Amino acid sequence: MSLRLRLSLSYAGLLGIVLVVFSVVLYLTMAKILLDEVDSRLRLAASQVHMSVGAADERHDLRILADTVLGAPLTSELAAPGLTVQVLDERGRLVASSPNLKNEQLPVDPALVDGGLRGEQSVATLAALAKERVRVLTMPLTVNAKVLGIVQVGQSLHDTDIAVARLRLLLIAGSLATIVAAGIVGWFLARRGLKPIGDIADAAREIGETADFGRRIDVQLPGDEVGRLATTFNDMIERIEESFESQKRFVADSSHELRTPLTVIRGNVDLLKRPLGNEDRRECLSAIESEAERMSNIVAELLLLARLDSAQEFDRQPVELDTLLLEVYRQAKVMAQGRRLLLGHEDCAVVTGDPGRLRQVLYNLVDNATKYSGEEATITLSLHRLDGWVRVDVADTGVGIAAEDLPHIFDRFYRVDKARSRATGGTGLGLTVVKQIAEAHGGKVTVSSALGKGSTFSVWLPLT
Ligand code: ADP
Repeated sequence: MSLRLRLSLSYAGLLGIVLVVFSVVLYLTMAKILLDEVDSRLRLAASQVHMSVGAADERHDLRILADTVLGAPLTSELAAPGLTVQVLDERGRLVASSPNLKNEQLPVDPALVDGGLRGEQSVATLAALAKERVRVLTMPLTVNAKVLGIVQVGQSLHDTDIAVARLRLLLIAGSLATIVAAGIVGWFLARRGLKPIGDIADAAREIGETADFGRRIDVQLPGDEVGRLATTFNDMIERIEESFESQKRFVADSSHELRTPLTVIRGNVDLLKRPLGNEDRRECLSAIESEAERMSNIVAELLLLARLDSAQEFDRQPVELDTLLLEVYRQAKVMAQGRRLLLGHEDCAVVTGDPGRLRQVLYNLVDNATKYSGEEATITLSLHRLDGWVRVDVADTGVGIAAEDLPHIFDRFYRVDKARSRATGGTGLGLTVVKQIAEAHGGKVTVSSALGKGSTFSVWLPLT
């Protein structure tokens, strides 16, 4: 069953329940009010009968008393329209009846007559000859505490029943018409309300089929629930589009980066096919070797980035960062090639992480500091413990980075000076790897640099 049908049915169903409850309550209340009104007229008539016979004494016989009762003002059609009176003797036989009864008689219930003879007054609904319902009040005709007979005052319920039947018909027809109308209106309202959801579903299907991530949904009312759904959907598609674009850029950049060494290798292989002297041959082979090494560096770093991207779980263990820094310092002394390498302030600090990857972070930063500084430069490694964090600084007095390049140096394959990076064997991925590893450990990397003066890279990691 569609959501639209479900909504329309529940809407009409709920309204139906409310209408049925309301109609039943209204119908029963109205029927009771009308019957109460008849009963109060009958009781008023009974009190008038009492008054009319009040002055009589026991010498009066029943027939004379009956004339007194029938002569009372309650039998007047104008004073009490439709009110009929009859007098019965103690055996329940008719003694006299009001002229408006003509040849008919009010229905007699022996039980009520017996009750009346015992002095009880009662009101009951009885069925008359023509299937009419009559409300009959039965009361004793008492003179000086002696029951001489029975007086019955009747009122036909014909008009009341017609009024109640009309009300019933009106309520049933009205409720049915309202429920059907509500169902139809609900059906159209649901279509209007659900249309944006249908649009979102269509758009999602089309995007899935065509991979056109540039498509967006037109958000009509951003504040309502459907508007929020459409906005969320648009945001999600935007993120997918961004990641799709960056994926495409990444593949294009990677192919481009790998093409350069491949071209160099192929050129040198072509050269080797020709007759060459020993010296030229050695040069060709060494060029091929260094380009092959660059390619494997690129591929290794791409693989590492792919693993970091896919958020693969890595080794997590306590790592003494000060010991790790000391190891990298010793190793870097070999690479420093005459540059002054110093160990500055060093606190003791233990972090949780992958020792191999953290070593790579420090190694990449020291490698960059060496690559992008002259032989007279100084490189200083230091470690500070600060309020829940540990900060490792790699500072150099090298070439520095221009302010406009600083925001991009962590991007994949971004190099300030392509030629210099290439000459020093750089891949343009070193800092991306540093950033990704630091972030995977819940940390971050910051940099401050001044062109021609040097740079300081700081890796922040949360303390264990
Ligand atoms: P690369 O393999 O080219 O070194 P990186 O991602 O490690 O790639 O660095 C990106 C760029 O940032 C480098 O090409 C270089 O221009 C700049 N850079 C990185 N470290 C330093 C530094 N210590 N001093 C000056 N420039 C740097």
